[in-house]
Amino acid sequence: MKNKETKNTNSLSSGKIEISVVIPVYNEDDNVWLLYDNLEPVLSKLGRNYEVILVDDGSNDGTYNKLRQLHEKNNHFKVIKFRRNFGQTPAMRAGFDFASGGIIITLDADLQNDPEDIPKILEKMDEGYDIVSGWRKNRKDKASRRFPSTIANKIISVLFRVRLHDYGCTLKAYRKEVLDNIELYGEMHRYIPAIASWMGVKVAEIPVNHRARKFGKAKYGISRTIRVILDIITIKFILTYSKKPMQIFGLAGVFTSLVGFIVTSYLIVERLFFDKPLSTRPLFILTISMIFIGMQMITMGLLGEIMMRTYHEGTGKPTYVIREIVDK
Ligand code: UDP
Ligand code: MG
Repeated sequence: MKNKETKNTNSLSSGKIEISVVIPVYNEDDNVWLLYDNLEPVLSKLGRNYEVILVDDGSNDGTYNKLRQLHEKNNHFKVIKFRRNFGQTPAMRAGFDFASGGIIITLDADLQNDPEDIPKILEKMDEGYDIVSGWRKNRKDKASRRFPSTIANKIISVLFRVRLHDYGCTLKAYRKEVLDNIELYGEMHRYIPAIASWMGVKVAEIPVNHRARKFGKAKYGISRTIRVILDIITIKFILTYSKKPMQIFGLAGVFTSLVGFIVTSYLIVERLFFDKPLSTRPLFILTISMIFIGMQMITMGLLGEIMMRTYHEGTGKPTYVIREIVDK
């Protein structure tokens, strides 16, 4: 276990990076310099040592060349280039892995987020939060994007018992050690606050500015909403049940089998003593199936248990999350 001196912001140790800004960039040719012009003054005014990690997610326009020029101009700005387009979440993960700051800030490259909000977010972090999430109170996207995401936000809040208004806002700040404990798959970066809060991490939300995209085009359409919903199901399942698959599959299995068994018995009694033929009763087929489906569910629960155990034992991954250890 790492021994962390969390929240230690006095950087007497020379040159230690305190803040890493991670920005996924995909075909944002016209935004790169604009982003720099907006972001650099804010960061240099902070008076904290910073780096900016620009992750080129396999752009096929002039983005990469511009990012390189940007690095030549100011080597606080570092560039990671993906071989192909892997998506926003993997781009963020790469940035997190590469970042050396104790605080990591994420931001969109298209300037829909306002870099001017960064000091406000950091102030909130200094109050002792582990994650501070931006809330696009006055969101400048099409209604066709806003409406599904309002619903998704409500569902996430109910399922994960975190109360944020806006999960999809990229402008967020995290303590590095929180991110070290979270694996990111699919389109899941938006759920970091929900997952983290389940781990017992302190999450805050503050309203931030949001602007319409001026240059380039949005990379996502309506299909994203469906993926978001599938991700919600996956995460809910993994967080709540993956440690006890037998409980969920087993319970459903026992219930199904039991109902099947009782009704089948009743039908058989009727056949034997009241001479009602079984072959004309579709219900019989249904209830017999229920017995077997239920048994298969129980088996699935058992398989789940074995997989879960193999995972934790094989990878040495604990089934808990530690904040710090006091032992001196
Ligand atoms: N992005 C990325 N890879 C992708 C799609 C998007 O790195 O496959 C970046 C994009 O360059 C931008 C951010 O993720 O910096 C958000 O993308 P976009 O503005 O298209 O999404 P929206 O604002 O509509 O959520
Ligand atoms: Mg955008």
